[in-house]
Amino acid sequence: MSIKKITAPELLSLNKFIVDEDEPHIEIDKEICGKCVEKPCLYACPAALYTLEKSGAMSFDYAGCLECGTCRVVCKNKGIVKWVYPRGTFGVAFRFG
Ligand code: SF4
Repeated sequence: MSIKKITAPELLSLNKFIVDEDEPHIEIDKEICGKCVEKPCLYACPAALYTLEKSGAMSFDYAGCLECGTCRVVCKNKGIVKWVYPRGTFGVAFRFG
């Protein structure tokens, strides 16, 4: 019997997300993020939701968030001005099989 290996992106794609379009559960202050030199969220977020725009401004989309809390921990400059779990019935549903 062989066991099929699954990559991290494949594994993440199994999850189901119900995005709360009316109330983001994470918000960032782009001005603070723009002044941050290290920008650890770019490397720490397992879902790669933090990206840099061509202008150098931080871009973030809470859709696809795994609710792990890593970005809140690694952000030392308080660029994340809001971090709460999504409202009931919203957010990630893990489907690891
Ligand atoms: S809580 Fe986790 S998955 Fe969600 S944005 Fe922060 S680091 Fe990424």
